[in-house]
Amino acid sequence: MTESYRVLLFYKYVTIEEPELFTKQHLDFCKSLGIKGRILVSGEGINGTLSGTIEQTDAYMAHMKNDPRFSDIMWKIDEADGHAFKKMFVRYRPEIVSLQLGEDDLDPNETTGQYLSAQEFKEALLDDNTVVIDARNDYEFDLGHFRGAIRPDIRSFRELPEWIQENKEQFMDKRVVTYCTGGIRCEKFSGWLVKEGFKDVGQLHGGIATYGKDPEVQGELWDGKMYVFDERIAVDINRKEHVIVGKDWFDGTPCERYVNCANPSCNRQMLCSEENEYTYMRSCCHDCRIVENNRYVAEHKLSKEAVAERLAAISQDVAQ
Ligand SMILES: [Zn+2]
Repeated sequence: MTESYRVLLFYKYVTIEEPELFTKQHLDFCKSLGIKGRILVSGEGINGTLSGTIEQTDAYMAHMKNDPRFSDIMWKIDEADGHAFKKMFVRYRPEIVSLQLGEDDLDPNETTGQYLSAQEFKEALLDDNTVVIDARNDYEFDLGHFRGAIRPDIRSFRELPEWIQENKEQFMDKRVVTYCTGGIRCEKFSGWLVKEGFKDVGQLHGGIATYGKDPEVQGELWDGKMYVFDERIAVDINRKEHVIVGKDWFDGTPCERYVNCANPSCNRQMLCSEENEYTYMRSCCHDCRIVENNRYVAEHKLSKEAVAERLAAISQDVAQ
């Protein structure tokens, strides 16, 4: 008999006194339940994703609902075949999402963009006077995103404020709406936009995860898959149609399969077919292919001759 599992995604910006002590106690509690996942705790709140059986996740949510600090958390719940994590981590961090605003740091309970329901967000996507900005990282956007959304040219969320300041003219006189996976990144980012002087700022409440489950919109106008930070890597959002937007790192053909570059010191995430993983030894470039500790070479116990053969096949391809 296979048990039914769930993956939970949640956050809450709320003051947590003695966050380091809370972190330790919360880890003990999570371990006692048998759930697995990753939870970040700071004085400003909690941010987590975890997996467990229906019983375990019910127990976790009931425990949180009994705590007045967390009673109104908006849970995003996915059904799953098994655990989506290998271990249970609860960690103390200065911020529950790293935006590093420094002096400009804000409390989303005081300053944040207007919350948009799935239906309101869908209307915003179709409105010419609204600019929709993806508040996630580039590799998340590349696997899937809302149709027509802007992809900031950044490698990590921390670079987003600077990118906005450099491109401000494009959006200043428009309504600006942001979205991210579960909503937590937009809480601060949209608040920061308000502080920057943007007049009309909205955010997708509950993020893409909630949008995909809305019975009315059913994930419409989402293309590709949503990147998730667990072993599933990619999940479906649009229940009406599936348009692939991901492109293979090597040949640009449609692809939704993420792998990491086999050079441990590179580790670049790239979309790559099984065929190209074989051909290019799961390495993003020549330099990564020939490093001594290449993980692909080790995993497949490739001899020096075998490596040389594959490298020769690649250079022949390039020559053609
Ligand atoms: Zn690489």
